[in-house]
Amino acid sequence: MLENNFTKQLVLIGGGHANVQVLKKLCMNRIKGLHTVLISESYEATYSGMTPGYIHKDFSKEEISIDLQRLCFNAGATFIKDKVVKIETNNQKLELQNFYSINYDLLSINTGSISNSKKISLENSSKCFFVKPISVLVKNLGKIDQIIKNKKNKIVIIGGGVASYELAFSLVKRYEEPLKITILGKKILGEKNLNQKTKNKLRAIAKNLGIKEYLGEVVSISETNLTLKNGEKIDCNFSLLSTGANIDMWLLESNLNKDESGFIAVDKYLLSTNYKNIFVTGDACSIENNIRAKSGVMAVRQGEILKENIFLKITGKKLIKFRPQKNWLYLIGTYKNYALLNYFFLSFHGRWCWKLKVWIDKNFINKFKFTENQNMTKKNFELENSKDNKMYCQGCGSKVSKSTLVNYIKKIDNNVDLRDSSIINNNSSKILQTIDHIKLFSSLNPFDFGKISYLHSQNDILAAGGVVKSLSVSLGIPFSRNFIEKFYLEYFMEGIKSEANKDECLISSGHSYQSRESGITLTLNGEIKSNSSKNSAREGDLIYLSKPLGTGYLLAAYFNNSEMLSSNDFEKIIKSLMKGNLFAVNSARSSGCHTMTDISGYGLSSHLIDICHSSDLSSRLIINKNILINSNLDLLKIFQSTGFENNYKSTSKYIEISEKHPLKNILYDPQTNGPMLMAIERKNKEKFENYFSDKFDNKPILIGRFVNKSKKIIYVDE
Ligand SMILES: Cc1cc2nc3c(=O)[nH]c(=O)nc-3n(C[C@H](O)[C@H](O)[C@H](O)COP(=O)(O)OP(=O)(O)OC[C@H]3O[C@@H](n4cnc5c(N)ncnc54)[C@H](O)[C@@H]3O)c2cc1C
Repeated sequence: MLENNFTKQLVLIGGGHANVQVLKKLCMNRIKGLHTVLISESYEATYSGMTPGYIHKDFSKEEISIDLQRLCFNAGATFIKDKVVKIETNNQKLELQNFYSINYDLLSINTGSISNSKKISLENSSKCFFVKPISVLVKNLGKIDQIIKNKKNKIVIIGGGVASYELAFSLVKRYEEPLKITILGKKILGEKNLNQKTKNKLRAIAKNLGIKEYLGEVVSISETNLTLKNGEKIDCNFSLLSTGANIDMWLLESNLNKDESGFIAVDKYLLSTNYKNIFVTGDACSIENNIRAKSGVMAVRQGEILKENIFLKITGKKLIKFRPQKNWLYLIGTYKNYALLNYFFLSFHGRWCWKLKVWIDKNFINKFKFTENQNMTKKNFELENSKDNKMYCQGCGSKVSKSTLVNYIKKIDNNVDLRDSSIINNNSSKILQTIDHIKLFSSLNPFDFGKISYLHSQNDILAAGGVVKSLSVSLGIPFSRNFIEKFYLEYFMEGIKSEANKDECLISSGHSYQSRESGITLTLNGEIKSNSSKNSAREGDLIYLSKPLGTGYLLAAYFNNSEMLSSNDFEKIIKSLMKGNLFAVNSARSSGCHTMTDISGYGLSSHLIDICHSSDLSSRLIINKNILINSNLDLLKIFQSTGFENNYKSTSKYIEISEKHPLKNILYDPQTNGPMLMAIERKNKEKFENYFSDKFDNKPILIGRFVNKSKKIIYVDE
């Protein structure tokens, strides 16, 4: 049996408190034949327990966030950053907002909830923020800061539950400005599990901080006030909706059974009551005959059972029951470094309660932080009926199944004639041709990878003065069955097409095969548009890069679980990887540039040396942090990508640079879809920079100039 013969697809929707635990379990255990995909709206998940602490600046954003891409990488799962908008339970299919539909064998929904605004009319001019989902509240914090800065400080927190109090305390602590906060609800502190002493204490703290309470039901919110059901108006220029939970429309409209409040009904195993291949946990679910208040604590508890049940279900064993507690521990942040503890009839307020809260919260969140060289030895599990798995003899050349191919081609073209070759019309007698192969980065969305692989290859045609006219593609798809095969084929191809269409490039032929090592090989043909040669740089020409460098060592650091890179940093790397060079090249061409090269696997030094050699010149560089995607110089010092060593060995003898130069290593860093290096005549400097900045959202990066040939080829000034 092959190692990665995927026969079942587990899809997790939402990086909520429960699904992240499933992924964590997959970091330590591997189910042979299982392909796992996480679809979530952002690269990070917010841990609710620490959010009030983040608001009052006790914790940083990184401390309260779970990096979902990295979690997927360690779990051997694929991460798709997107929103699910529809579920077709009968076809076991999910529609996504941006990407192509995805099928599942087993599904786990942990998408949280949204603040309940059903009975409130919100005017467009109102400054009203929803506190759920909590990740959105965190994202909106910058906007809230701005509102407070503009002296709009009459705040109403609509709700009246314990979350409203915790939020109010955090806001008081966050801002130095005097705030006028009112907590307004139909009921105040109605939670059943809070004892009277705790309620009294919360109200006393609120009073002490100048926070008012008001009973009422809000029916509309305008820019300057709230209107209550009894017609009363309350001054307010900024409100927060903390009114309990609702679920998203796509779930409401699904065939999944709901309870009377609209939440997805699940049984004691956390399975939907009418679809036994769908688990639902957290705020989105309601357990039959065991309804509990929605909370992060509950979602965490459910996650502990969910992760076991997913393994048990997939390996064909008996599931375990979730037994919800009737009462649970509340730890509510109050003053700085103080918390209020509530458990049954116990109520304490003190520093030790805060310490306990921090200890519990950090204990949870730290499970999702990875350290370099962490031992990830995995225990192996078998899928149920894995003995029936087909054996891949590879006698067919490991071809992807014909039905997968025909279905895909039909979808894009209506043309089911599987040709092996195409006629390409060509105006010129000369064509440019290039071939490139890159291996899929583990856990990366294959669509994004398709895009990156096209742009990576396109650079060769652009650097040679051409435009892409046609391509042939060969796709290496993991050994897999039916819709897993389809997923890779479709995502790879659509990613490639999303860029190829911009070039009006013909996809002339293709091949796909199943392989242990997924990846894309592209042969691109181009037409020559302008003269470009490596030997036409002149002394005095300025040397520009179209975008920053660093994909090699940064990916090495990220996938080595370096704590020095956050999910935000990863997003920046991906953004750079998905940025094409076409506009940059057009700017250079219209500024008279005839010499350019793309920085690829051999790094900046090798490509610049090529131009210098061909043009019989040397170069003098002045480089600083602005040539880096990530400005942390320690990362550049510590991490090296495969390929660095060879690049260093083959070029360092041509370079004069101080051993102490902090950017020394960037010269040898291999790039995927790296920047274009362009030689621009000094007289065209302004024209080029203006043209470039008009088309691109960054400026071209000036790194030096060509000089008369000397002993060394590259001189890097201090
Ligand atoms: C101010 C405040 C403070 C709170 N403090 C606490 C506390 O101290 N302790 C506590 O126990 N609870 C607390 N809560 C409650 C807690 O926030 C929620 O109950 C908890 O976050 C629910 O967890 P979940 O796992 O169901 O979903 P979430 O944590 O909300 O995660 C859902 C995930 O799914 C993603 N998602 C949503 N829809 C889609 C979609 N269609 N497609 C793909 N992805 C999707 C979201 O982006 C998100 O990453 C607090 C709430 C508030 C408002």
